[in-house]
Amino acid sequence: MTTSLKLRRDVIKAAVAHAQRTPDRQVCGLLGGHGTLVTQYLPVNNVAQDPRRSFVMSPQEMLDALRQLDAQQLTWLATYHSHPHSNPIPCAEDIAQARRQAPNQVMVIVSFNRPKPRLKAWHITPYRVLEVPLFWETQSQEAAAPLLTPSRLHIVLTVLAALLSAVLLLVVSITLLPPPPVLPAPIS
Ligand SMILES: [Zn+2]
Repeated sequence: MTTSLKLRRDVIKAAVAHAQRTPDRQVCGLLGGHGTLVTQYLPVNNVAQDPRRSFVMSPQEMLDALRQLDAQQLTWLATYHSHPHSNPIPCAEDIAQARRQAPNQVMVIVSFNRPKPRLKAWHITPYRVLEVPLFWETQSQEAAAPLLTPSRLHIVLTVLAALLSAVLLLVVSITLLPPPPVLPAPIS
């Protein structure tokens, strides 16, 4: 079960921009990624009879989007759609459609009925609808990855430090050596 989703800012920016281009109709698409991290947005055409009030994903385009995620070895993490004039809460039709389409799916909704777009996610099970907390992928996590692979400077510094400690050990060992024994005078 999905307990939370992490969002990459550029991906959500693209998804929100897609919705803002048609402020009078709902847009929809799929969100994919790895684990709980959303790394891809794939728009799918809304073929609902009244796209101002609801969304129905084009079955062919949805299949193409799923294949695209599969080809990139990404998991389908959530569906996405916009509510141009209402809160980011699934309506009865959204819930019924989600349950028909894929049980236990996560539905991300962006809404534009306030000055700033609002994003919320919902886990729709066959029995309940639960809000899924959303987090931004933080800068520290993005910066954490390069630290795992040491840079050339790191390698050079590590080798230098090892050499220096070997030299120091040698110098200390020599200074701690007892004085050489006095050799007996040769018999003449
Ligand atoms: Zn909706």
